[in-house]
Order: sequence, then C-alpha cells, then structure tokens
Amino acid sequence: MRQRDDFRTMRVVSSRRISPSMQRLRLTGDDLHRFATYENLHVRLYIPKEPRSGWNTTDNGSIDESLNDLSVSAMRYYTIRHIDADAGWIEIDFVLHDHGGPGCLFALAARAGDSCGISGPCGRGVKPCSSCVLIGDATALPAIGRICETLVPACIGRIIALSDHPIALSVPTGVSVTWMPTSARKSALRIAEMALRATEEELPDQTFVWGAGEFRMIRELEGLTKHVPSERRLLMPYWKSV
Ligand SMILES: Cc1cc2nc3c(=O)[nH]c(=O)nc-3n(C[C@H](O)[C@H](O)[C@H](O)COP(=O)(O)OP(=O)(O)OC[C@H]3O[C@@H](n4cnc5c(N)ncnc54)[C@H](O)[C@@H]3O)c2cc1C
Repeated sequence: MRQRDDFRTMRVVSSRRISPSMQRLRLTGDDLHRFATYENLHVRLYIPKEPRSGWNTTDNGSIDESLNDLSVSAMRYYTIRHIDADAGWIEIDFVLHDHGGPGCLFALAARAGDSCGISGPCGRGVKPCSSCVLIGDATALPAIGRICETLVPACIGRIIALSDHPIALSVPTGVSVTWMPTSARKSALRIAEMALRATEEELPDQTFVWGAGEFRMIRELEGLTKHVPSERRLLMPYWKSV
C-alpha cells in the first residue's frame, strides 16, 4: 500500500452559500505551500465517513491512497478557488447538484471543526496567452475564477459560463463574460466556436482554448477545436451525467 506524502488533514473553518447552488468552504491545514501554484489548480478531496469524529491517518500523518482506510468514504476532485498558504487556509466552491454524492453532501453538512483530507495539487492551468476562450459549467467556475487571476491585463477573449446562478468574476477589460443557463449547452458551444474564430482572426495562433464541465459537452468541444494545437488547448471532463 502506497502512502501519500502530499496528503494534508484539513479542518473546516467556515461554510457559506455564495450562490443558490454553490457552497464555499474554508479549510485550514498545515504546510500548504505546495498547493499555492497556478500550474496545478486542483486537489483530491478525501471525505471522511464521520467528518465530526476526526480522521485516521498513519503514524506520519499520511493516508492509504487506495482508500482502504476505513475512515475514508470517498475521494473527489475539486479546485482550489482561493489559497493563503502563509495563513494556512484554502477555499473550495462546491456545486450543490441534484442526486448529491459524498462531495456535495459533505459541503452541505459541513460545520466548523469537521475534518477532511486533501492531496495534490494536480491538473494543469492555462499557459500564458494574449487571447483566450474559456468555457465551462458551474463546476468549472472555480477554475475559471482562478485562471482569470493569471491572465495578463491586455488579454482579449471570451468566457462562456453555463450556470443558472452567475457569480462575480474579475476579468481583464478585453475579456467578455457570457452567462448562459445550464440547459443552453448547444448554443454555448456555438458561441465558443464563434469566439474562437474571432480571436484567431485578430491574433492568429495565440488563442488558448480551455474547457471543463460535463463529459458530453467536453467531447463536443474537442470536436469543434480539433485544429487548435495541444499546447494551446486544455479540455477536461469534470463529471458525467448518468
Ligand atoms: C479536476 C477537477 C476539478 C473539479 N473542480 C470542481 C470544483 O471546484 N467544484 C465542484 O463543484 N466540482 C468540481 N469538480 C467536479 C466534481 O468532482 C464532480 O461534480 C463530482 O462528481 C462531485 O461529487 P459528488 O460526490 O457530489 O457526486 P457523485 O457521487 O460523483 O455523483 C452523484 C450523482 O450526481 C451527479 N453529478 C455529479 N456532479 C454533478 C454536477 N456538477 N451537476 C449535476 N449532477 C452532478 C452524477 O452524475 C451522479 O448521478 C471537479 C472535477 C475535476 C475532475
């Protein structure tokens, strides 16, 4: 059994609803500096069976990666929305979706003092670019928010956000944000395609295309952006509708 040395035990500090469908948890833990990078935006979140009764770790504070540890109920991927490693906290925004699984239910029930675990960081960010097209559903909003922090002020482009509940995003003046309802996937993809064509005409070979969200949307996006070289394209299915 391999033990993860990038595992951290975390405690819930606060929980607040930032939109009707999004819960923000602030989690505190030790030695978080490895997570404070824009190169890897995500963490594996380990959800305990009993968040209120503590956490079984090995002697070195690590955890069994295979989740054989009886105190672990599930692992899910989430994005670090905010981090202050010096102060020892991160924030994660959880989508409160129908048919909530362990991740969503943990966020809904979380109280100060509850425990969970994180490991990582993992996943890639967006490479420096002068133009971008970002598209994602509600699960992608934390990553979009974080990516926006890395865009140069002169960056141009478009963000297409599929969410019934818009949240504040801080973007360069040349980047527009289009909010669309979750049901408008097809139209959102068409807009993304048009936005890509427009930025490619204005700044040929400089547009970074980023997309994340439900599996089928990402598959369709892959088809529409085949011509974009892999170094300027990052598409990632975040969840699958069943
Ligand atoms: C790299 C990465 C980063 C991610 N970052 C975030 C993040 O910052 N915030 C965030 O909220 N999610 C994020 N996700 C998505 C999240 O991991 C999934 O939505 C996950 O399935 C939620 O787990 P759960 O235990 O709540 O539901 P599960 O047990 O996985 O699923 C239970 C049921 O809910 C459905 N379901 C799952 N997610 C959704 C959804 N979003 N909308 C509607 N139905 C859903 C499933 O199809 C299933 O029927 C990320 C995923 C990846 C891969």
